[in-house]
Amino acid sequence: MNKRGWMMSMGWFGLAIVLFCFSSCQNISSTTLDSLKNTRKGQPEGIDTIPEAEPEPTPLLLDKWDSLQKNLVIFPVDSLRPVDVKVQKRLLRDSLRKEFNKHPKHVFLTFDDGPLVGSAAIDSIARARKIKVSAFLVGRHAGMGKGRQRDLERYKANPYVACYNHSFTHAYNRFNTFYSNPTSALADFEKNEVDLRLEHKIVRLPGRNIWIYDNVRKIDLKSGASTADLLYSNGYRVYGWDVEWRIQSTTGIPVQPLNEVFNRMRNFMNNKSSMRPNNVVLLMHDDMFQTRKGKQLLLQLLDSLQKQDYKFEFIEDYPIKY
Ligand SMILES: [Zn+2]
Repeated sequence: MNKRGWMMSMGWFGLAIVLFCFSSCQNISSTTLDSLKNTRKGQPEGIDTIPEAEPEPTPLLLDKWDSLQKNLVIFPVDSLRPVDVKVQKRLLRDSLRKEFNKHPKHVFLTFDDGPLVGSAAIDSIARARKIKVSAFLVGRHAGMGKGRQRDLERYKANPYVACYNHSFTHAYNRFNTFYSNPTSALADFEKNEVDLRLEHKIVRLPGRNIWIYDNVRKIDLKSGASTADLLYSNGYRVYGWDVEWRIQSTTGIPVQPLNEVFNRMRNFMNNKSSMRPNNVVLLMHDDMFQTRKGKQLLLQLLDSLQKQDYKFEFIEDYPIKY
């Protein structure tokens, strides 16, 4: 054994003694530890350090919230002054809600099925208002004439628009058939990604409100689940929505009045009842904003949301965690 090898062996031996004492001698004094440290000075670098316990990372507010939601919090039961566990749960939920309210609230405006008539309005409003929006694009629509191609290029050039994958064919709106063959559905998303030169592996399934990302898996309709799982195992994140707003595309008459949509979003924010607290995803469709009336409604919604001081985010940053 060469000199360095011998010194390393001695270093590890010393470290083993320290660890042994640390684990077995409950009453070991700090002086003893200090003296052990001191005797090790001058040994080769990188070997003579005693591993110090990593400070426990402070759990995120979101982790605490999840534990409560999943009934993983154990509440103390004091037999002298019993407080109902339900009451303790409610108190904890209220205090976590208050904690969340100290943080900013985030809105994800998502527009599906573009490029379509209506995309140009979204593009110019996002740019003029400097508001981030997320567009889930359908490649087949981009091939439907010069206008749609131009809309696509505008989206891609706009720093306030992030482009994501909503499949190439949009299942030709025959969703059950499309999802009955997950392999060909995956190929359809992959074609869209290549054709539209999409940078993010983020998809929304046509006709399905399915979420699969990190450790979250939420399925609305079983048909679509296998495709979503296959996408996820191929590196994609799948995002659904919390609230949907519909406006009749050709008349601009809202199916859900603006107030109703805004109130639902605000309630989700305040009650922490969206998929993730303080994060609300709104689904709209590009063709809703092809009329003057539709555009005005979108501007009014933005006004209302901005008055609440909500922050607008791209879906690739979902969810914003504390
Ligand atoms: Zn769609």
